[in-house]
Amino acid sequence: MDRLSTNLRLLVYNWLKNARLRWAPGACVLCRAAAPPGRDLCAGCLEDLPRPGAGCERCALPLPGTPAAHLCGRCIRRPPAFDRVVAAFEYAGPVAWLVQQMKFRRRLALATLLGGLLAERVAADLAAAPECLVPVPMHAARLRARGFDQALELARPVARRLRIPIDRRLCRRVRHTRPQSSLPLAERGPNVRGAFAAAAGAAPQHVAIVDDVVTSAGTVDELARALRGAGARRIEVWTLARAVPHH
Ligand SMILES: [Zn+2]
Ligand SMILES: [Zn+2]
Repeated sequence: MDRLSTNLRLLVYNWLKNARLRWAPGACVLCRAAAPPGRDLCAGCLEDLPRPGAGCERCALPLPGTPAAHLCGRCIRRPPAFDRVVAAFEYAGPVAWLVQQMKFRRRLALATLLGGLLAERVAADLAAAPECLVPVPMHAARLRARGFDQALELARPVARRLRIPIDRRLCRRVRHTRPQSSLPLAERGPNVRGAFAAAAGAAPQHVAIVDDVVTSAGTVDELARALRGAGARRIEVWTLARAVPHH
């Protein structure tokens, strides 16, 4: 038994050592080529990251082959509480890998890199800056278990670059919900209903929610509903990646 646990410890140790060696500072996180200073991603890999094509102007659901300024069926039937979703990337290929590395291996430097890319995307068509950023709040129990709040860590570089304050007190997660990704699409709305609370009149007119991945948009819709109830009038969702929900 002792020997087994020693072996296990060695295995974990070696794996950690290799993981660290694989990612040297100044090298691209995807291909290890030289990367520009301050950004751990080379120009070629940046170019190859999947960008969203034509999509719903409200929720950014991909709608291939449709002209711009279109709404998806769901947004027509039941308009969400947010006004628009801005997604830097499609949740696919290297973007999916980077997000998983950031979340489950707590690679904070990746959040800085990805948050910087989100800031660039948002700055490209920002007509009026929101008064504050609201990272999707994580329940305290999950934060303790994971030790890493990905929405907050992504929001930090965005806040720095665009000079918009982060407001973490505006909205709280009052209910511990099951991870949306573990549920079929039909159960995701009910799962997050009533999950957030904000004090009446506390929200500024214009806010931007920050999240890592938007899939069914159930979570950000519920958060937007709470913010609207608290007085927000224009609510944007800035997400690193947009995933296509599967039924
Ligand atoms: Zn590269
Ligand atoms: Zn839509």
